[in-house]
Amino acid sequence: MVRWIMHVDMDAFFAAVEVLDNPALRGLPVIVGGQSLRGVVSTCSYEARRYGVHSAMPMALAHKLCPEGIYLPGRMERYKEVSRQIMSIFHDLSPLVEQLSIDEAFLDVSGMERLYGGPEQAGRLAKRRIKEEVGLTASVGLAPNKFLAKMASDLHKPDGFTVITHEHARAFIAPLPVTKIFGIGAAAQKELLQVGIDCIGQLSVADAGVLRRIFGKNAERVRLLACGLDDRPVTPDSEPKSIGRETTFERDLLDKESCRRHILELSGMVGYRLRRKGYYGHTLTLKVKYTDFRTITRSITSESDISSDEDIYALAVRLLEQVPLQKGVRLLGIAVAGLGSGQPLGLGFEEDAKRQRRSDVTDKLKARFGEQIIFLGAFSLIVIELEAC
Ligand SMILES: [Mg+2]
Repeated sequence: MVRWIMHVDMDAFFAAVEVLDNPALRGLPVIVGGQSLRGVVSTCSYEARRYGVHSAMPMALAHKLCPEGIYLPGRMERYKEVSRQIMSIFHDLSPLVEQLSIDEAFLDVSGMERLYGGPEQAGRLAKRRIKEEVGLTASVGLAPNKFLAKMASDLHKPDGFTVITHEHARAFIAPLPVTKIFGIGAAAQKELLQVGIDCIGQLSVADAGVLRRIFGKNAERVRLLACGLDDRPVTPDSEPKSIGRETTFERDLLDKESCRRHILELSGMVGYRLRRKGYYGHTLTLKVKYTDFRTITRSITSESDISSDEDIYALAVRLLEQVPLQKGVRLLGIAVAGLGSGQPLGLGFEEDAKRQRRSDVTDKLKARFGEQIIFLGAFSLIVIELEAC
């Protein structure tokens, strides 16, 4: 059976929701993001893009390029509400939905010919329902696998509809630049260019030794993607209730300072697990078991999405302040609940971007060298050094 994967991505989502709620903004350059001059653009309308504004751009530069822009701080609760509406349409269309972020998802629509008349009809239906029921436009990509579907949805934004068939896949992607393949960044692109490879077609027939040298153990995966092949399944979200870790100490902890040190370590472990599974959370619980086995828990709920080690640590330490410490502590635990999946949401504040970068770096190190690589206070130092490279 031919597999058909649909990738749906909302167009300029945050800005589009602002226009939806305030039609007077239609046709204007709407820019959503951190409002301080040190903030960054989170999303902007296509009108704003004509001025050269794009997401992740420093807000100060956006103001320079587009002084007449409509600058808005963003309303995350409202965006999540609209997102839930869109996701429920997806769940109507297919039992296999994998949400990637607040505004995009993969749907496996294989074998649904009888239901919809074919994959194309399913894609058209998704677009039509989002337009009619939510009032927004989405771009849809249909292809035999995830890699091609995501590429397809990106090709004719906004309001795009692109189908890549199995037969045409290879020819279709051959002329595209190698950076269209997820994981090929500027560094690998440069190395490929040195051996005369700059488009995906050339990459698909590249010498195996060259690929091994540049991509190491990922060489074969890269070659398959370059051939348009990708067998990752659409994995529907099965949501755990919370993600946590606890440690029992060989010797009881007797003061807050040593508790804080262990909380820092636990925060790193919990943060890593959350991010690796693609979750963020809203409620943090600290568990303290004393020498006499009496256990207390304290919880705190945050408005914003918690996923960085720093956020987890800051909240846990705040809870620790409320915990009496007359006896020794034999166990500490941290758990994050109220989970959501996808990219944790920030509204483009510079601090969010920095935290995100730090998390990315520590996660890469942990995935490569094991979790013990970064712990205690050493962590920010290592990360700063890496960022400087
Ligand atoms: Mg989008």
